[in-house]
Amino acid sequence: MILEAATKEDESDPAMALAAFEAAKSPQRFQLGAVIKKGKRIISSGYNQYKTHPKFGFGRWGYLHAESHAISRALSLGRQDDLKGATLYVYRRGCLPSKPCKQCEQVIRLYGIKKVIYTYRIQNDKERTDRKAQGYEDLG
Ligand SMILES: [Zn+2]
Repeated sequence: MILEAATKEDESDPAMALAAFEAAKSPQRFQLGAVIKKGKRIISSGYNQYKTHPKFGFGRWGYLHAESHAISRALSLGRQDDLKGATLYVYRRGCLPSKPCKQCEQVIRLYGIKKVIYTYRIQNDKERTDRKAQGYEDLG
């Protein structure tokens, strides 16, 4: 699985725009959206939320993360086969890094998603250090 920070081109991809739209639905303070695309087709989308999920609800607070929400929706739509070789777009509102957490990474690998493109803009190293210290990197 390839993890890549979004380029300017990726940021203007319609899938990333949809991920931003999904992120806006999140009731959480840190709003993330995810979109799964294969070829030109959108397979699924999701956003992070407080709801837990029997299979994918996890994390320090038991939240359902955007990436896992998108995958669980694809499964409930009977699109498991489409996940193999697909690309996952992750967007975090506020121009902050949205690299998937370790748990989501495992789920992403499990279903054979080939590539993850995440928004990644950090203003300075101090901010990066502060975020790390506060455990924000686990929120993806
Ligand atoms: Zn996650």
